[in-house]
Amino acid sequence: MTSDTPFVLTPVDHPTDVDGLRPRTRLVHAGVNRSPFDETSEALYLTSGYVYQSAEEAEAAFANDKIRYVYSRFRNPTVQAFETRLAAYEQAERCFATATGMAAVHAALLSQIRAGDHIVAPHAMFGSCLWILKQLGTQYGADVTFVDGTDLDQWRSALARPTRLVFLETPSNPMLDIVDLAAVSALAHAAGALVIVDNVFATPVLQRPLTLGADVVVYSATKHIDGQGRCLGGAILCSEDFATTLAPFLRNTGPALSPFNAWVLLKGLETMELRVRAQVEAATAIARALESHPRVARVLYPGLESHPQFALARRQMKAGGTLIAFEPIGGKAEAFRLSNRLRIIRISNNLGDSKSLVTHPATTTHQKLTDDERGRVGIGAASLRLSVGLEDPQDLIDDLNQALDAL
Ligand SMILES: *Cc1c(COP(=O)(O)O)cnc(C)c1O
Repeated sequence: MTSDTPFVLTPVDHPTDVDGLRPRTRLVHAGVNRSPFDETSEALYLTSGYVYQSAEEAEAAFANDKIRYVYSRFRNPTVQAFETRLAAYEQAERCFATATGMAAVHAALLSQIRAGDHIVAPHAMFGSCLWILKQLGTQYGADVTFVDGTDLDQWRSALARPTRLVFLETPSNPMLDIVDLAAVSALAHAAGALVIVDNVFATPVLQRPLTLGADVVVYSATKHIDGQGRCLGGAILCSEDFATTLAPFLRNTGPALSPFNAWVLLKGLETMELRVRAQVEAATAIARALESHPRVARVLYPGLESHPQFALARRQMKAGGTLIAFEPIGGKAEAFRLSNRLRIIRISNNLGDSKSLVTHPATTTHQKLTDDERGRVGIGAASLRLSVGLEDPQDLIDDLNQALDAL
């Protein structure tokens, strides 16, 4: 920049070209779009709006907002850098960031649904996603059929009639059921439905639903994308075609991600693959240790041969993930005593953090379900969900062992 160059900060629409680079490199370099200061770490554009050099420029910007930034509810350079980076990793045509994971789920569904539409979804999923789907039925007149996500025959009969959307989560929260993404996507497409996958439990590192036939992927970036428990965020990955209805929905309803959170998440992506790999390695060792403990009744981890859908998990996931479901012998009292005795692993309803966290779903995240509903998705009185963090795995195994030994 020379002294006579007018100082106009206009990050261009051409991020660092990452085509041909490997995924881990994309996590570090995609979306880099340096300002005239040539910073190393991405700039944080903490601004709600933008000014124009002239009334003519404002007019042109409103005629075609792709030529520059207009308002941060529509676009912001830092948010856009996060979207570009995640899309480049996932190899999606488009990525839209949202303020939370639930805002992403809500927008992906509500931008598509018309009264009377048929939707198919499994019983087993994140509590708030279930709430939205039930609400779509009662409030918007959609017809929602719930199935056992692990049973292809149930998917087949539910999708025997025209359907607008399939919404699913795999592995499911909290009991880690695996849904066959390729098979369900084929059945859904034959019924005329688009498939939206909540890929939070699998993480972008371990599962690519878009390559298995799904049309849209949603994330709570709050979880492994930040991965350090710092902020909320969400994302929707989709095709240009889906974006034609989603983009105006987002622009006008406004669930925009804060530029500050986008910056945190952008930096989170740089370490995501390394973090998740370390967490998978630890989770595998912990799941095996739990399986061999005499006071443990049951362990569900998609990376272990003992998982009822191990073969399917191995086919569609790169590894078993960072979450484990397990049950001490006994009931609620034993699950509570075990949780209360843990020293390093802390009690929380959150997951995907650098700190290991344990949850008792029946009394927290899934408290609002009826006994029947909990029974149907396999949540027992003793069921615990463990989110494995970044501590030394042996310290986590020691912590679990001392708590189990005392039962
Ligand atoms: C946390 C979570 C969500 C919701 O994300 P928020 O960022 O909390 O809104 C949705 N789906 C799954 C599977 C989750 O774990």
